[in-house]
Amino acid sequence: MTQTKLPRIGVLAIQGNYASHAQALTEAGASPVEVRKPEQLAGLGGLVLPGGESTTMLKFLEKHSFFEVLQKFCGSNPVFGTCAGVILLAREVLNPTQRSLGLLDATIERNAYGRQIDSVIVTAETALAGGPLEMVFIRSPRISQIGPGVEVLATRDGFPVLIRQGRILAATFHPELSQDRRVHRLFVESVTAASADH
Ligand code: GLN
Repeated sequence: MTQTKLPRIGVLAIQGNYASHAQALTEAGASPVEVRKPEQLAGLGGLVLPGGESTTMLKFLEKHSFFEVLQKFCGSNPVFGTCAGVILLAREVLNPTQRSLGLLDATIERNAYGRQIDSVIVTAETALAGGPLEMVFIRSPRISQIGPGVEVLATRDGFPVLIRQGRILAATFHPELSQDRRVHRLFVESVTAASADH
């Protein structure tokens, strides 16, 4: 019997909840690889940029000459950013302004929901088949503007919270913290499709 090889997907493991993403990727049918150095990106089919503190991740990337390599990888491979990961991917970051990879045509405001109600779980219909999706928001940023090439897959209070632009998938919530694996499966499928294109 022939066994199909699982897609190898990296998880940027500098800081934040990368371990839950690795677990979610396994459950979604992929083989996760923790990435801490630029050379570890070699041979991966895609990459997850997890939630955490974007400022901390950015400092690390700049200090270890990782920023440009990451920018190049994310510009030509499937990438999935959640929360702080979306902040890293965005074209423009506000509150305060911050350097970013500039790959996702969106403006994002950090900590946009204030401190009082900094964490909330919303269950709502999205563009994904299979009924309402649980969405866990933690000190979430807000996508305040998107370009014409960006597709909105879910919203909260009228603002996009799950978007897709070509090979880039971005969620301002934390799908890795819910049991539902539909969002990770969507990403794993895009990685498989992109590898088939090569
Ligand atoms: N507030 C964080 C930041 O600005 C993002 C929050 C998260 O990733 N849970 O980087």
